[in-house]
Formats: sequence, structure tokens, C-alpha cells
Amino acid sequence: MNTTHITGFPRVGAKRELKFSIEKFWKGEISETEVFQVAKEIRQKNRALQKQAKINLVPVGDFSYYDHVLDAQILVGAIPERFGFDVTQLNLQQYSELARGNKNQPAIEMTKWFDTNYHYLVPEWKSDTQFQPVTTELIRQIKEAKEEGYDFKPTIIGPLSLLWLGKAKGESFDRLTLLPKLIETYEQILRELIAEGASWIHIDEPILAVDLEDKWIQSFEPTYKALANTSAKLIIGTYFDSVAEHADLLKSLPIHGLHIDLIRAPEQIDSFLNNWPSNKVLSLGVIDGRNVWKADLSKIYDFLKPIQEKLGNQLWLSTSCSLLHTPQDLSVEEKLDDELKEWLAFSAQKVQELGILKQALAHGKEAVKEAFEQSDKAADSRKNSKRIHKQEVKSRLQNLTSDADRRKSPFLDRFDAQQKVLNLPLLPTTTIGSFPQTKEIRQARAQFKKGELSQADYIAAMKKEIEFVVKAQEKLDLDVLVHGEPERNDMVEYFGEQLDGYAFTQFGWVQSYGSRCVKPPIIYGDVVRPKPMTVEWSRYAQSLTSHPMKGMLTGPVTMLQWSFVRNDIERSEVAKQIALALNDEVLDLEKAGIKVIQIDEPAYREGLPLKRQDWDAYLDWASQSFRLSYGNVQDETQIHTHMCYSEFNDILPAIAAMDADVITIETSRSDMELLDAFVKFKYPNDIGPGVYDIHSPRVPTNDEIHHLIQKALEVIPARRLWINPDCGLKTRGWEETNAALKIMVDEAKKFRKQL
Ligand code: GLN
Ligand code: ZN
Repeated sequence: MNTTHITGFPRVGAKRELKFSIEKFWKGEISETEVFQVAKEIRQKNRALQKQAKINLVPVGDFSYYDHVLDAQILVGAIPERFGFDVTQLNLQQYSELARGNKNQPAIEMTKWFDTNYHYLVPEWKSDTQFQPVTTELIRQIKEAKEEGYDFKPTIIGPLSLLWLGKAKGESFDRLTLLPKLIETYEQILRELIAEGASWIHIDEPILAVDLEDKWIQSFEPTYKALANTSAKLIIGTYFDSVAEHADLLKSLPIHGLHIDLIRAPEQIDSFLNNWPSNKVLSLGVIDGRNVWKADLSKIYDFLKPIQEKLGNQLWLSTSCSLLHTPQDLSVEEKLDDELKEWLAFSAQKVQELGILKQALAHGKEAVKEAFEQSDKAADSRKNSKRIHKQEVKSRLQNLTSDADRRKSPFLDRFDAQQKVLNLPLLPTTTIGSFPQTKEIRQARAQFKKGELSQADYIAAMKKEIEFVVKAQEKLDLDVLVHGEPERNDMVEYFGEQLDGYAFTQFGWVQSYGSRCVKPPIIYGDVVRPKPMTVEWSRYAQSLTSHPMKGMLTGPVTMLQWSFVRNDIERSEVAKQIALALNDEVLDLEKAGIKVIQIDEPAYREGLPLKRQDWDAYLDWASQSFRLSYGNVQDETQIHTHMCYSEFNDILPAIAAMDADVITIETSRSDMELLDAFVKFKYPNDIGPGVYDIHSPRVPTNDEIHHLIQKALEVIPARRLWINPDCGLKTRGWEETNAALKIMVDEAKKFRKQL
């Protein structure tokens, strides 16, 4: 029979039990022991689900109290020295301080895990970093699994990926100089795991799927030759993209198996089947670990059958990557309708799909007839459902005219037309959209959702808030105002809830970092806007002031990027559908007298593929989608966009290709460094580089803001420059917001006078 295994299972619990427990611990409400108990129960449940599903090798080491890359740093005994902790004796408090910082030390830096929305803690490497095996926690969890009678498979990050994921701190040096010492420690770790009874050991080397410098590639052979000395049976895990370019290397390494992701890169299979060594296992990731759709079992079976005939038991079955990126269990959802539920599979269901495939391969499809029938039925209904496929959406996309994503005139002509209407001063001031979301606002929204507050009362409460926000901005003497977004819980959810084709779960949480989880909406069908979404709020806000009021929308790429996206059509097509739905809104806002419309794209860069060679194709459809969202607006209507969270230097042409009249962008934390790139590239349209960081309650000084405006003016012509904060203000309090904005406006006015 073919072995089934997974790289990892979600670890926060079906109802986020770990999150709630560890947050209580942080508040001092419960003890470490109580958190350990909750964690143990989660692991037990996860193993039981896998057993039920007939998974043969249960991973150990996929669980984490905060982050598995932090755990790997501990495993090799290399936590940042600056904390002064004894890595062999860490308690949960110290562990948490590494992740969250303490009075004396900032937290370990966090960054995105490849192209996912998961964030890991970045190892801090120094030229003299020392390593030692610290297997205490891993072995505790192995013992736990053994006691329950499981065949287990320790799952750890490989030495090369771990080194690569970290950053050199202090004086710069080549991280690879640490490799020989690190290999020694890995050898010791492997020996300890073997002594604990591990037959297979799973080592993830996800860096194999990114554009990797030669010296890293060349390090694989010596590394794995050394690890082979331990006589551990190693399976190397890869995911998120193709590793076909390294097929020869991977076939020749002295390892016992390889896992590849056939969801992201199905085409790579040929490179591996061709001359696959008879002494190695090939694990195929055929169930999607990054998305929520039920697998088309018949299709996968037909694909696997000939491979099985060729490889026999050397073929293993798995999910494409760790299930960390998929919600835990569909069966706890109470509010999704049955039809939609039939189309979905979360982690608990995905492991079952693996078990079913394995049985079908061993005993024929008849042995698991019912499961195949259900899967066929779901595949069929997704192909034909009227709920998913809407002819009017498809025709609209097919019949787009060639100017559907072009403004009528070039930027400078538009600028003149807009100035006639808007009459803005030099260095116009504005904000990014949201104002403080007070307790009262949140409460009103929650009560309205639960039906405890009538629609009329809710609208009245929001209008009162909008009035307050408009008055505050008039008092501050800002130039372009916003309504403050009090009616929005989340910038994607708010729009998704009003669009056809989107669904929302109750418990579809995935870990973003530590105890923080997000619940991405599910885009299951063609996207349509049944009726205006924001027009009434914006119209009301505009009626309160003679200043221009910005309409505020979330852009198509961000709407896509922060959702689970249907897999039956291209992502680019979904993005364009969303863009057209947003275009309806833009045109309605324009009709309602809104003269400035901001379409936020904070996730524009996040969609970039792992490999450079795929960037252009993505940026092409991403920028086109953005442009489609404002298609057909008049020259007089000023389109803004906003971006934050990342660096943009390397995608400036694609940002320019969005052709927004104004871009406001996060820059203050990097002391305006980003602007140099804008200048070098000769970015043509207006720019509002953030002049203060909204992520902290600290009010900037006049000098600081003065300095940043000065720096911006050195490189950007005054006519092209806007003055604004880095991002929305919803997480801030009113006091600091008023104080900071006052300083911002004052400094802008001083420069204006000089100019
Ligand atoms: N308009 C949004 C806000 O101000 C933008 C949020 C974001 O960029 N993440 O809240
Ligand atoms: Zn932002």
C-alpha cells in the first residue's frame, strides 16, 4: 500500500483554543501548565483525526506554541543572545518574550513565510553564533505520540532553509560560513531522534522552490552527505513552487525520499518520474494545502494510477504543503449552506481525502465508492452551478473594449481638469481612510450584526460618527477629507459581504502569526455587485462639508489576495471580475458627486510569485485589474491608491502602470528611503509618502515631520507632493490622532508658505 503522510496540521485548534489559552497566560490569568494541557489536547485531537483518516505517518514537530521557525532556532540552540536566556531551560514566559519582546529587548523580527500570509520569526545570525541540539520539546512530543501508539515522523526545517531564512546581524558576513557547525548540530539532533525510535525523518527545504543563488544550491550535496552519516532515513520536503530545475541534484542526494508540490506545480512531475531512483520514495502533494476546495478524487486517481504502477510503494501520498494554511475542520461550520459545504474541504477533510485515495489505489475505487461519488457530484455541480457561473459576468469580461482600462487623457491633462474642480493648495493634506475605531463604534456594529440594534439606529450611530470625523478634519484644516470608515470591520470582509460570489465561515481561521489568526472569505463564484456598497455613506459625508470627500474602496488585488480563491478559473480572471464589480461602485460614486476616489491596494506586492520569471505575468494582470476598477471615469475624477506593509522599489514600473492620479504610500519607517527609487524611476504622477508612522501611539514631533517633508521635497517636485500619514488610523486613539494630524497640517502649511 502507498504510505500517506502530511507535513503538518493546523495547531491553533478548531475553535482557536491555543490562541485563547496562551493569551490568558500572557495576561497572567493562567499558568504555563494549563497552556501545556490545552496544547496537548490539540495535538491529541490532531493525531486522532489523522488516524481516523488512515494517515500512516503522523508528523511530530508541526505543533508550535507560537512559530515553528522560532522552535527550529531553539532546536539548534541558537536564540538571540541579547535576551540572556539559557536555551536549554526556556520556560513559556521566556519563549513568549523571544516572540513578543520584553522591557529590555525588542521582539525577534517577523516576516512573511514565502508567499503565504503566515509570518515567522527571523533567526538572527552572527558570525560567531554557536549551536547545540536542544531536543527537549520535540522529544516530549515524540514520546506523547509514541505512548498513544502512533507511527510518527519528526518534521523539522532543514539546515539550509533555516540558515537562509535568517538574517546576518551585526557586521555583515556570509551566513553559509555557519553551515559546518550547524550540520554537526543537525547530525546530533538526527541521532537523538533515531534513538527515540524515529524511522523516517522529514526535513523541509522550502528554499528549493525560490530563486536560489548557486552557492546555496551547491551546499545541498555536502550537507546531505554529512547528514547521511547518521543513517537517518530522510525525506526532503519542498512546496509552493516547482523544484524541477533541481531534479538531477535531488535524485542524486543520499536521502531516502522527496516530497514535491503538485498543486502549485503539477508540470514538474515529469522531471521526477523520468529516471526516479528505485531506492527512493517520491511523495506527491496532490491535495491542496493552501486552499479550501474539495478534491476532485477521480481526476487525481486517474493521474496517480499509472504513477503507482510505475513506482509501486515508492509512491507516497500527501498534501501539497503543511495544512497550516487551511482552516481546521469544516464540520464545525453551522451556517454555511449544504451546497457550498459540499464543495469544500478543510484540514480534517483533506486528510480523509488522502486516506480515500490510498484505499482506492490499493483496492480499487469500488472500495471507497461513496466518497468518489460525493467528490464527482461536487465537481459536477461546481462546473454547472448557476450560483457560480453567471453569463453576464463572463460576457462582460469577454467584451471589454481596449480602452476599458485606460483613462481618457494623460495624467497632466487630468491633473489640470481635476485642479479646476478641486482647487487644492500646494502640498495638499489628507489621511488614508479610517479614523479611530472606538469601543462604541465596534459595539454598535456588533449589536447590529446580532440584531440587537435596529438598522435605523445603526445608521444613525454611524452617521453621528461620520459627522464627528468630518468636523474633526475641518477643525484640523485638512484638505481632502474622508468619512472615517466606522461601518467597516475589515477592508476585505466589508466588501465581500456585499458582493455575490463571496462566502464567509464562522471558524475558518488560519494562523497569521503567533496567536493572531485571520478568517479569509471564500470566493466561490462569479463576482457581481448587486447594489451600491458605499455610496450612501460617502454621499452623506460629502453633504456635511465643502471640502472634497474621498470615496474609499478596497482594490481588486487586495480583495483577491486576502481571500481563499476559487480554483476552477484563473486568479487573474477572478481579479478582473472583482475589478468590474468595483468599477460599478466607482461610477456610482462619481454620479453621486464624489470627486476623489481612493482604491486601496496594500496587498499589491504580496501577490508576487516566488520566482522572478513569473513576476511580469502577475504584474500585468494585477495592474490591469486595478485600472479596470476605475474604467470610464471622467478626467475630473481623481483616483488615489494606497499601499503599505512592504517595500516597493522593485515593482515601481508596475505601480506606475496602475496610473492612479495619486499614490499614498508607507515610507516614514524607512526615513523616505523608498522615494529615491521613485525618483530614479521618474515616477510620473502625484505621491503622498507617509510622513508619520501610525503603528505606534507616539505623537511625532514637529521636527520629525518637518525633516520628512524636507526630505521628500528634495526629490519630488512640490506640485507632485501630498502630505499624509503612513496608513489608516483605525487602531489609534483620538487624542494622539488629533495631536499628530495637527502637527502634520502645521508643518505642511509652513512649507506651503515658503514655496
Ligand atoms: N483605507 C484603509 C484604512 O485607512 C487602508 C488600510 C490599509 O492600508 N491596510 O484603514
Ligand atoms: Zn495602509
